[in-house]
Amino acid sequence: MSLAQGAPLLSRLVSSSVAIAGQAGHLIREIMKKGDLGIVEKESVRDLQTEADRAAQRCIISSLNKCFPKITIIGEEGEEETKVASGSIFDPSTTSLVDVTCPAHLSSMAEEEVVVWVDPLDGTAEYTQGLLDHVTVLIGIASGGKAIGGVIHQPYYNYQNPGSELGRTIWGIVGGEVGGMKILPPPEGKLIVTTTRSHSSSTVNDAISAVSPDEVLRVGGAGHKVMLLLEGKAHLYVFASPGCKKWDTCAPQAILEAAGGILTDIQGNAIPYDASAPHRNSTGVLASAAGQKHGVYLEQIPQHVKDNLKA
Ligand code: AMP
Ligand code: MG
Ligand code: MG
Repeated sequence: MSLAQGAPLLSRLVSSSVAIAGQAGHLIREIMKKGDLGIVEKESVRDLQTEADRAAQRCIISSLNKCFPKITIIGEEGEEETKVASGSIFDPSTTSLVDVTCPAHLSSMAEEEVVVWVDPLDGTAEYTQGLLDHVTVLIGIASGGKAIGGVIHQPYYNYQNPGSELGRTIWGIVGGEVGGMKILPPPEGKLIVTTTRSHSSSTVNDAISAVSPDEVLRVGGAGHKVMLLLEGKAHLYVFASPGCKKWDTCAPQAILEAAGGILTDIQGNAIPYDASAPHRNSTGVLASAAGQKHGVYLEQIPQHVKDNLKA
């Protein structure tokens, strides 16, 4: 199916990103099947990159650039994988594209106004450890410094249910629709918090204790944790640490907000997504499912944790 040329840019961008994220997920699975992950350490032993991160980013950046040459794209991986590689281009119009409705107030956006934050493989530590359902591909769309649209692809969704279709893709537009899944509310009468499993710290744990959870789900990936909020498996995502980056939060934030949830830093401030914003979310992340009292949880976070995370 070809893209309707008359459709608003945001509709075309989201539907193309759904197709491109699916192709990136295919590459991630193929590299795992071959078994040669080509692991390198980035800033530390807790910050890894594999051939799957590199190949997925080359595919996403080259393909988006070909379709939308004037948008700004910021990817997690290094300079080499930020260059456009003609051999990595995937043409989304060769697939069956999802139909995405654009809210009226976003329908006249120009390519020059758009910044796309790409995490080609979120949950790399878990990918290398075989926790495959923690892995997501994240394509976040921002304009005017705000997250406005996003795509989360789960390349291993259903991998433990043989016979079911492998992988799925969720998309959303703030003030518009969420597609690709059914949003479910978390259980009433208890508080389930999700947080990091591989980047914990004393401030992360102090923030979690302060909200007195009944259960804590320590899982990998910002994308995966926001999926738990959307699926009704957790009420709150707490990460009182500076390790998360804009490419981790842009797509999840847009989809969560489209579903009625909230994502801010640990002080309750909006996270800026313009092209000149620092990559690091130095003041942490707090995200809540639709209908939760985000402000009440913010107030419960201890002042020493907030002070420790000043920008
Ligand atoms: P996690 O919840 O630990 O899976 O982290 C969510 C995202 O933030 C992943 O992309 C991590 O790579 C990134 N992240 C969080 N903390 C750190 C850290 N201390 N160093 C590097 N990356 C981090
Ligand atoms: Mg990530
Ligand atoms: Mg990544």
